[in-house]
Amino acid sequence: MTYKISVNDDCIGCGACIGVCNEIFELVDGKSKPKLSETNKECAIEAKDACPVEAIEIEEK
Ligand code: SF4
Repeated sequence: MTYKISVNDDCIGCGACIGVCNEIFELVDGKSKPKLSETNKECAIEAKDACPVEAIEIEEK
């Protein structure tokens, strides 16, 4: 499965997504930013579930 990842403007920069999936997410100017726009790593889903404000959007391809 390939996941298309984006982070919307609701991100509050809490870092939870980076805690569970630092291969994919990083903080840039206080907001989470995907290092890759697409991945097959399951931790992207864990990051989405960990986000307190539902800022991570994942589309399965
Ligand atoms: S878990 Fe959500 S709010 Fe926290 S840094 Fe990641 S995208 Fe932003």
